Amino acid sequence: MNENYDVVVVGGGPAGLAGALCLVRARRTVLVVDAGAPRNDPAEHMHNYLGRDGDAPGALLADGRAEITGYGADVVDGTVVSARATGEGGCDARFDLTLEDGRSVRARRVLITTGLTDELPDVPGLAQRWGRDVIHCPYCHGWEWRDEPLTVLGTGPTAVQQAQLFRQWSHDITLVQHTAPDPDDDERAQLSALGIACVSGEASGVEVVDDRIAGLRLVSGDLVPCRAVVVVPRFAVSSRLIDSLALSTAQEEEKGHAVGSYVPSAPTGGTDVPGVYVAGNVTDLHAQVLAAAAAGLKTGTAVNTDLLAEDLDRALAGHGRT
Ligand SMILES: Cc1cc2nc3c(=O)[nH]c(=O)nc-3n(C[C@H](O)[C@H](O)[C@H](O)COP(=O)(O)OP(=O)(O)OC[C@H]3O[C@@H](n4cnc5c(N)ncnc54)[C@H](O)[C@@H]3O)c2cc1C
Repeated sequence: MNENYDVVVVGGGPAGLAGALCLVRARRTVLVVDAGAPRNDPAEHMHNYLGRDGDAPGALLADGRAEITGYGADVVDGTVVSARATGEGGCDARFDLTLEDGRSVRARRVLITTGLTDELPDVPGLAQRWGRDVIHCPYCHGWEWRDEPLTVLGTGPTAVQQAQLFRQWSHDITLVQHTAPDPDDDERAQLSALGIACVSGEASGVEVVDDRIAGLRLVSGDLVPCRAVVVVPRFAVSSRLIDSLALSTAQEEEKGHAVGSYVPSAPTGGTDVPGVYVAGNVTDLHAQVLAAAAAGLKTGTAVNTDLLAEDLDRALAGHGRT
């Protein structure tokens, strides 16, 4: 790790590595700092990534790291805790970034690709099985759980929609209402038409037998048998680094329910702090791996264009023109 880079990429998931690849191939000096906890880490396989469907999530990232270091980018394991605009313009470093272990580095531009945190419903047993047989995304896991008995844990007004969506993959779906509002008459008719059972009552825990989910236990003591539990997490962007830069965040809502927080950005990944860019789940809660990587690439090109403009200003100033 050097003292200065054109770009420091914070986060080495698919968005960050794709951005870094584009920038290092554009002959920018690039450092990727990565805390090493990509969102899909608990999952055994990565799906819906054309050409790599079924790979282990880590395999894509290991290949990405090898590709960017092959072009001369640096990668360090660590967590960036803060970044500060130095106020300097021109081609001098504009941001000071500090890592948790006390190391620091300067950059002309910062690309934040730190992803999001999935905040799970507070039901005992869910967290331990997250990404295995506690799932949220039918496109990531639906095929693997096709035709199995699935229970959807209701925690908000989108529970009915989630149950209807998973019905595409299994005919054996039960919606446990838990903390979700009562379905209205139309929703009850829809659930019934699709053969989706609706059970009222709160869940008290996940029942596991021989390291497999046997069902969802209710406070009443009843067991709703199933092989996997579907949840709707709240998506949250981590905030220490974001707060240090005073980046704005926004809340996404669906049917009046908080889906999660994100950093708003322009289509090019630009934020309300000049020189700071975002890509992937930190700004798009719904981006899957392929979309996150694509966003990283697109934002990488925008960062390079931004740097080119600054390089041009400097070249003109060198010729006595401003
Ligand atoms: C259980 C599960 C299974 C999934 N399965 C699939 C699937 O099969 N197919 C699919 O397309 N999508 C899947 N997804 C979605 C997928 O995980 C995301 O689309 C993808 O990870 C987003 O990429 P990203 O680069 O934005 O963020 P991430 O992949 O989360 O990468 C962010 C990186 O930044 C690091 N980081 C965070 N903060 C800091 C910091 N301050 N300093 C340094 N580094 C930091 C993190 O440790 C991490 O390595 C799944 C998600 C989950 C939760």
